[in-house]
Amino acid sequence: MLVTQTLQRLNDTFVDSERKMPVLFVGHGSPMNAIEDNEFSRAWVEAGKALPRPSAILSISAHWETSGTLVMAMERPKTIYDFYGFPESLYEMKYPASGSPKLARLIQDTVQKTQVGFDQAWGLDHGTWIVLCRMFPKADIPVVQLSLDRTQPSPFHYALGKELRPLRNKGILIVGSGNIVHNLGMMAWQGKAYDWAKEFDETTKQSILSRDHASIIHYQDLGEAAHLSVPTNEHYLPLLYVLALQDEQEQVHFFNEGVTLGSISMRSLSIE
Ligand code: ZN
Repeated sequence: MLVTQTLQRLNDTFVDSERKMPVLFVGHGSPMNAIEDNEFSRAWVEAGKALPRPSAILSISAHWETSGTLVMAMERPKTIYDFYGFPESLYEMKYPASGSPKLARLIQDTVQKTQVGFDQAWGLDHGTWIVLCRMFPKADIPVVQLSLDRTQPSPFHYALGKELRPLRNKGILIVGSGNIVHNLGMMAWQGKAYDWAKEFDETTKQSILSRDHASIIHYQDLGEAAHLSVPTNEHYLPLLYVLALQDEQEQVHFFNEGVTLGSISMRSLSIE
């Protein structure tokens, strides 16, 4: 009885629609992309304009790692400044979108293979807000984040992504925010892209195009270029959620292709 009542209440808010919402993976790079007018931030603005208006946004950001999977469940998430040494103007930015406890509940009910816990402490980290302040500058669409369970191997994240599929039919935009190549230790502010960074970015692109998701999940088997490009996997994992949401007949469109700062791939993609 209780379950039925809960579902009815949810359906008041997130109803099935004819159109399936596209899915995005965004290479977010430097927090400066929130305030700098450059080729990347301009492409985010354009991507936002091209999207149908979502009923809510679910962001899976590289910058929220937890033990166990959590979903943000507060009404008013704060803007988090999880970076250091940047200009004051960046710390003055706010992204005042509301949260959605209803979407948090829907996600908890939708995911069956693992338990999704509610979180009341996190907020919108820079993986989420530096992108959304460009795509949806009015901040008038509710936003929820799902955490990355750092205790789990990559196949777990791909499988969890698959379970989120029904959300696409309810007008919910799912955004993975990370970077396919992300090696801060080898970053070169003025330098050109490393060969291994370009190689791994290209290998990943080709695997995406040929739908070889198994290679992408098991990136550790791809040799030296993969090891250098993904020294830690938090920026890579959001890609697995996004690819898991691709239906057979759906196409991938790339934007912001290219490696910046030597070792950061900005490659982004939409699936629809
Ligand atoms: Zn980042």
